[in-house]
Amino acid sequence: MTEAERLARHQRLWKADHQHLWHPFTQMQGWLEEEPLIVDRAEGVYLVDTLGNRYLDGVSSLWCNVHGHQVPELDQAIRDQLGKVAHSTLLGLASTASIECAEELVRHVPPNLTRVFFSDAGATAVEIAIKMAFQHHQLRGDERRREFVALSGGYHGDTIGSVSVGGIDLFHRIFKPLLFDVHHAPQPYCYRCPLQKTYPACATACAGEVERIFDERKGRIAALVVEPLVQGADGMITQPPGYLKRLRELCDREGALLVCDEVATGFGRTGTMFAVEQEGVRPDIMTVAKGITGGYLPLAATLATEEIFRSFLGDFESKRTFFHGHTYAGNPLACAAATASMRLMTSRKVIEGLPARIAALTRALAPLADHPHVGEIRQRGLMVGIELVKDRATRAEYAYGLRAGHQVCLEARPLGALLRPLGNVVVLMPPLAMTEAELTRLGEIAREGIDRVTARL
Ligand code: PMP
Repeated sequence: MTEAERLARHQRLWKADHQHLWHPFTQMQGWLEEEPLIVDRAEGVYLVDTLGNRYLDGVSSLWCNVHGHQVPELDQAIRDQLGKVAHSTLLGLASTASIECAEELVRHVPPNLTRVFFSDAGATAVEIAIKMAFQHHQLRGDERRREFVALSGGYHGDTIGSVSVGGIDLFHRIFKPLLFDVHHAPQPYCYRCPLQKTYPACATACAGEVERIFDERKGRIAALVVEPLVQGADGMITQPPGYLKRLRELCDREGALLVCDEVATGFGRTGTMFAVEQEGVRPDIMTVAKGITGGYLPLAATLATEEIFRSFLGDFESKRTFFHGHTYAGNPLACAAATASMRLMTSRKVIEGLPARIAALTRALAPLADHPHVGEIRQRGLMVGIELVKDRATRAEYAYGLRAGHQVCLEARPLGALLRPLGNVVVLMPPLAMTEAELTRLGEIAREGIDRVTARL
């Protein structure tokens, strides 16, 4: 393709995008005034746009890429499956690819989770977890257990059920009249403690708030829904050690189910295969999506214990069936990608290789520690949030309309990285396959972007 042809193609796509697409989580008025960056292809951990520019995929194409792009083993697994069948249903039929995928998945999750209910997005996995937990208690004859507890700042997807257990005002407030009531406890956000306390002197008082809700609603709580270790979408809010374990003990004591949403944290992201491992916690229900296919295809799963599974058993007439299912549940192409990705994690010893990479990223960001406009750097594994502040001493925030995080991401583009912020938090979520050199470069780009933007704001 000549330079002129390349430009003409870019402009044609730009025009068509502006005519027909409605982008998620995007203010389309501003979008329509700007030239879009159009991703055309990818090589390893780089994305390439229609003008031929290469960028480090700094947020793993929305937190899901694991081994990089165009991975020969994953490409081959999908091609092989394509030669057999692209899609068949799990409603009343089984399929080779979904069986093999479920078998592989249960090898990696906590050992009490032996049942896999497939769907196709993080939100559907959470929706399923909510309905499964609710019906489980009903079927057990514990009909008073109908209520849910979740955390402020939580994010579990955008369907009405998952928004109900979500707690991000900016996204969720408008839909309040459509949501069911959920008890929200203050999140463990130590940098801006909702209880105005200081860790560790507080003795994790926010966990005490969860306990208080359980006390007040004795015998009525069906499940507690949490993101383990890191509340991602609220700005990579990291939980203090022991917090999740305390929630597990609480649920055990109170007879409620613990639902851990590992959609963002799963598949090595926080340094272990699943975040719950770091707290020695076994959830009753766990949701996974994003990284399950290595970031290739949409697939999600809600994992449950045998005890939960068994409560749904009965003869046909009993109507104890779980009446829920999505057309593309357990799609064979996605399952083949997932099986290949999980096997690759084992054969490439991905988890074992993480400490050196995590340390490289920590080192690259260390100079930001006393930056006048960096309030806090929160890192768990290869999940990082850098909170920008107007004033480090008072922790005053940049005004929403300044789009400080977004501006840093725009600065990062010509420097060679694609990032996406969460408000004033600059997020780094690189594919686990990024080399130490690439992680160092990614850190340098983030620093440079932060310097440039905070100097002019
Ligand atoms: N749960 C968590 C913890 C997430 O971070 C996300 C997505 N960012 C979701 C659920 C929703 O996943 P999806 O976008 O695939 O519906």
